[in-house]
Amino acid sequence: MYQLSEEEEKKLVLNKYRQILRHSGITDTAKKAKIRKAFHFAVDAHKGMRRRSGEPYVLHPLEVALIATRDIGLKTTSIICALLHDVVEDTDYTLKDIELMFGKKVARIIDGLTKISEIFDKNTSSLQAENFRKILLTLADDVRVILIKLADRLHNMRTLQSMPHEKQMKIASETEILYAPMAHRLGLFSIKSELEDLILKYKQPEAYQSIATQLTESEYQRKKFITRFIQPIKRELKKQGFKFTIAYRDKSISSIWNKMQQKKVSFDEIYDLFAVRIILDSDFKNEKADCWRTYSTITSIYVPKHDRFRDWISVPKANGYEALHTTVMSKEGRWVEVQIRSTRMDEVAEKGYAAHWKYKGTVKTAERGLDEWLNKIRELLQNPNSDALDFLDDFKLNLFSSEIYAFTPKGEMITMPKGATVLDFAFSIHSEIGKKTIGAKINSKLCPITQVLRSGDQVEVLTSNKQNPKEEWMDMVVTARAKSQIKTALKEVRKQYANMGKIKLAQYFSDLKREQDEELIKNFQTYLEIPSSNDFYYRVAKGIITQKDLKSFIDLKEKENGSWLSNLNPFSFFGKSKEPNTLADNIQQQLEKQPETLMLTKGQKTAEHRVAECCKPLPGDDVVGFIRADGVINIHRTTCEIASNLMATYGKNIVKAKWREEGNLQFLSGISFVGHDKFGLIREIIELLTSQMGINIRSFDVETHDEIFKGKAMLYVQDSKQLDSIIKKMKKIDGINKATRL
Ligand code: MN
Repeated sequence: MYQLSEEEEKKLVLNKYRQILRHSGITDTAKKAKIRKAFHFAVDAHKGMRRRSGEPYVLHPLEVALIATRDIGLKTTSIICALLHDVVEDTDYTLKDIELMFGKKVARIIDGLTKISEIFDKNTSSLQAENFRKILLTLADDVRVILIKLADRLHNMRTLQSMPHEKQMKIASETEILYAPMAHRLGLFSIKSELEDLILKYKQPEAYQSIATQLTESEYQRKKFITRFIQPIKRELKKQGFKFTIAYRDKSISSIWNKMQQKKVSFDEIYDLFAVRIILDSDFKNEKADCWRTYSTITSIYVPKHDRFRDWISVPKANGYEALHTTVMSKEGRWVEVQIRSTRMDEVAEKGYAAHWKYKGTVKTAERGLDEWLNKIRELLQNPNSDALDFLDDFKLNLFSSEIYAFTPKGEMITMPKGATVLDFAFSIHSEIGKKTIGAKINSKLCPITQVLRSGDQVEVLTSNKQNPKEEWMDMVVTARAKSQIKTALKEVRKQYANMGKIKLAQYFSDLKREQDEELIKNFQTYLEIPSSNDFYYRVAKGIITQKDLKSFIDLKEKENGSWLSNLNPFSFFGKSKEPNTLADNIQQQLEKQPETLMLTKGQKTAEHRVAECCKPLPGDDVVGFIRADGVINIHRTTCEIASNLMATYGKNIVKAKWREEGNLQFLSGISFVGHDKFGLIREIIELLTSQMGINIRSFDVETHDEIFKGKAMLYVQDSKQLDSIIKKMKKIDGINKATRL
């Protein structure tokens, strides 16, 4: 049972902290101060929290920081991140707080760490190795995220005892699939071995215990043997003036177990239970030659096994490992593996690339070396073709060459082919977003739509209502999806202009206080000698055809024949009686006077009636008909202002109208909505409309200003009831403050 007094706990915590500083070797006062700040912050943030084992929680981040610096060789930033790695997840502090106190870099790493744990640790369903790998790749952006995560995982594995059994299994399996291979890949030998042993300990406790016991029982014998074995080597090397240490390490329990399985042998039959390691204190210039000389010395004492020689000095392993390995026959008739390396090589072997790069530069530029190393890892993770990589084999997957993985701001992963751009990404979220894309924030940095994405990028698509797909976009995308959507959109754009033109023209009519008249428009178009309607409306939309043009045309027509148009001209009557109340009353009165009711079919256009463009009545709406001079009946909503004006003036032309029940045609209608800008809102709205309600969207415009979000959607609906239900559902979306029919 865990039992310590408060004083003792304080001491324990402080000692751990000092240990970290000592192992880090950091002497710079400013850096030390930063670490101290992080330490105090972590202590304070986790105050009162305890781990399952009963220990103060803060011991966990302290242990992680210790592993990060002692076993991986990480420095200031990483130590700070390790100390703070659980703060955002487990306390009330936010990423913003971290950023304010420790800067962007630290915040970003913590963010990465928090994300992985959200994805894995809190996910109860077991994830596929592929998912692990994908997530990992995305985090390759800053390998420190992975390294600290490895340290975190190692400490969690060390303290797995206090977890319930099913948790132990889950964590051990994840470690087996993901973290141990990762440690191997990164050349973190000691972490990898320890992880593998711990995996075995929890997954096959009996095998683990049996090997552990046998190792302990045979330890004395082994030590005696080794002492005798190394004596002549020591003597000979000293004679030659070498400075060196000789160590031996038992093979890890898991590797013994693997060997027993592979070769189908018992514990007693494993001859290489340990390896003798000769570490030469030799400088960079002479180390290789010294290793070879040592090799020659040893093999002149003991006979080497010819097929067991490995030269990792001339060609180091992919993970940076360098050494000479040989297996020799001892005087007692037993094979012994001997590893020869320099101090530098030894550190590389234990700590992986971090150490490797530390030595590559001068010692003073260790920090810079680390950055280079991080770049190198990033490269390795991102370039599957670098032949040295057995990374792929580790995960037994080969998709990786052709795919990248980017994230939405919410952390949703999007898989795309290599070479995919911001524009591809935007279209893969939604076509409506793609079409409005003007750029993106990639990892908080502004980038153009042509920017090629890299695995791990977090992409926030920036849209503008003014943006429209362009022909040249076709050359800026690689995904088939984006290509086809742009093609459709380009068609749509032309159509949209036509629609805008129609709306604008309706506005012209309304400004001129005129009933919109299709016949007149046709004549106008012919008069202007524009054969295509789309072209005609495009010009209206672009303002090439103005209201003044229309007015002149109407005037011309009127002059020409004093036709029905003049009868419809409301100007002569208007001005004084424009009050809405009286107008409404007026309509009501007029309606009551009408004996007949026009039964409307749900067709938008029939010979006898047309749906008015100004108010777009839907089946279910209260409507009135208005007989035009040409005999066609225009159907308006009773609330329509244009209709009100017309009817107030031409009461005798009003017809009662009602919708018939049958039919399943669709009508264009619009909704406007206001909300506060929140990522994912557009998507949520579109999802509601399309997937949930099966509505056809004709257009969708969104504008954002000072976090206020204004939108307009033109939709095809069956009737006003359906529209009302859309509006009702829309209002329930978090972030939407107002939704109304246009
Ligand atoms: Mn942790």
